[in-house]
Amino acid sequence: MSFRTVLALVCASALPASIAAAESPSADVSAARMAERIEALSGFGTNPEGGVSRVAFSEADIAGREYIKTLMRDAGLEVRVDTAGNLIGHREGSEPGLPAIMFGSHIDSVPGGGNYDGDVGVIGAIEVTEVLRDNGVVTRHSLEVVSFTDEEGGLVGSVAMTTGLDDSHLDDMSHSGLTVREGIRAVGGDPDRLAEARREPGELAAFIELHIEQGAILDEGDIDIGVVEGIVGIHWWDVVIEGFANHAGTTPMNRRRDAMLSAAELALEINRIATSMPGRQVATVGRIRAEPGAPNVIPGRVVMSLEIRDLSAGKITQVFEAVEAAAARIAEERDTQIRFEPTGVASVPAPTDKRMRRIIAAAADGLDLSYQVMPSGAGHDAQDMTHIAPTGMIFVPSKDGISHSPKEFTSPEDMANGARVLLETVLAIDEGALD
Ligand SMILES: [Zn+2]
Repeated sequence: MSFRTVLALVCASALPASIAAAESPSADVSAARMAERIEALSGFGTNPEGGVSRVAFSEADIAGREYIKTLMRDAGLEVRVDTAGNLIGHREGSEPGLPAIMFGSHIDSVPGGGNYDGDVGVIGAIEVTEVLRDNGVVTRHSLEVVSFTDEEGGLVGSVAMTTGLDDSHLDDMSHSGLTVREGIRAVGGDPDRLAEARREPGELAAFIELHIEQGAILDEGDIDIGVVEGIVGIHWWDVVIEGFANHAGTTPMNRRRDAMLSAAELALEINRIATSMPGRQVATVGRIRAEPGAPNVIPGRVVMSLEIRDLSAGKITQVFEAVEAAAARIAEERDTQIRFEPTGVASVPAPTDKRMRRIIAAAADGLDLSYQVMPSGAGHDAQDMTHIAPTGMIFVPSKDGISHSPKEFTSPEDMANGARVLLETVLAIDEGALD
């Protein structure tokens, strides 16, 4: 059932037929209103390049959150801040026993960020509740619009809400100059009672995040909507390459055990492996350090990073094993030693709920919007929410695939399309599409 149909039913049941028939065109998602609010939000933490530096817990973040609170209240939502500092706007449903449907994103940015990452999802979520209100629609489930705390600093708010925030993380220094603990307090949370922010599996009917793609697939393909299959897993290693440091002037070329050359070959090989396998896996060497690091010394030791991302943990392993095999060959050829030290799993792959993908795709279809099913190469609060609720993500195009940059841009019409899909998705779930 589309929103129009729901609206028709609501009107038909609540009003005499003649009035319902005489209704002017029903309220719709407003691209102009969304664009105005994105613009207003960009005033908090404006940077000289035209984007924002609204890092979590900064004065700009706190002011931006106040703006969001005002929008939420004006939309008729009951606003609260949970103990993790997550901003939540509640709209009561008609059947109080039902679990709430939650949707939203975040408004904090990276330093030197843009005006759309996260913001579109929060502004879009508020827009949905306003369209419902303007059309006099009360959903069966309560609705909760969320703006998560400190997404860019490690998904702080959504981790606290789902799997729980590790105590040690509270002492991390955030970009604002406050520790995470101090920051949570500064935005109205209570780091000593974080457990109260936890939501148990089953407590929410669903979670949906509208977000900009931050890549170029939709923009290049002229596609309206991305139906996110899941958020990729991210694994990190330190690659330690041991050679022999020696005099760069007196050691002939044929007597060198140059760790840098092994590293260079391996970096090229990593790129070749990730490129040659079918699929969307990515592998990156993002950091490299040669020791002792002098122009006149053959590098005896090199430490470089390796990052592999994919939607499937098996694929990550497959890429890594191919890299290991290449490293063994290179080590042998260059008389060096190469070992891989895992430095952590930044995140495990988080597939979205299959039913949610179908619902989002059907919503796009019903609105005559083109869509593509795709992975998210970037991390999102939605990945944490998969632990406790059927989760779906809706992507809208990022112009030229640019993100985490002041040049980030999504057109008002694309934002509105995303909000319309979000609205239809919420209504479909409310009508039992997940049952
Ligand atoms: Zn984001």
